[in-house]
Amino acid sequence: MSAVTRQYKLLNFFSFYLCGLVDTIYPNLCRGCGNSLATADNKICLSCLSTLPLTNYHTQPGNELEIKLQGRFIFDRIFSYVRFTKGGVVQQLIHSFKYRGEKDIAIFFGEEVGSIISNAKWNTTPPDYIVPVPLHWKRFRERGYNQAHQFAIGMHAKCNIEVKPDLLVRNVYQESQTKRDRFGRFESASGVFSLNTTEDLQGMHILVVDDVLTTGSTIEACVDAFKGIDNLTISVCTIASA
Ligand SMILES: [Zn+2]
Repeated sequence: MSAVTRQYKLLNFFSFYLCGLVDTIYPNLCRGCGNSLATADNKICLSCLSTLPLTNYHTQPGNELEIKLQGRFIFDRIFSYVRFTKGGVVQQLIHSFKYRGEKDIAIFFGEEVGSIISNAKWNTTPPDYIVPVPLHWKRFRERGYNQAHQFAIGMHAKCNIEVKPDLLVRNVYQESQTKRDRFGRFESASGVFSLNTTEDLQGMHILVVDDVLTTGSTIEACVDAFKGIDNLTISVCTIASA
């Protein structure tokens, strides 16, 4: 490990508290591995980019995510951009925007997905709106931004599908992942999310987006908020799936 890399990793730790500091001081280092970047415009080095475990699920109706969630709710398509691997570069990048304030990485993933979404195979027409899974206001206050919304902003920049960040509201504040795992998951009940619009969504195709899909219970709770709307189509897209 080079001295600069070691210094970067140490700084990364402190940036948990001082969001964005690393980016300000070391804008030329890869957020995936900490190695030097060819240009300051890039956020991730070519080596990390080439090892991203792309799923290509968007072109595969009937992919394993869709099989996993089959029967839980009715959907048009479900896909993730990359596979989540513990200890891998994807985990490092997700931690960067989830715990270190580096929201530009969520935007980066959004731009990547926004660029390839025209190749997605929809069973119906393409989505009318992108709806990020909202954070509870307390979590939003803690993090300062919603990473799913940042992901959606990146997507919009490339595919131009309108983003509706306030369409859903999260009513339930969730404890941290560790606490939740210890006491069991509870986010499957209805009422966790509610609709916050007077707009007629009948006949629309909504693409719900989030950072990581694990059990699918968060997405299922989101979909529950749309119940009762006639002829509504739901699709789901996440950065990673585990
Ligand atoms: Zn790298």
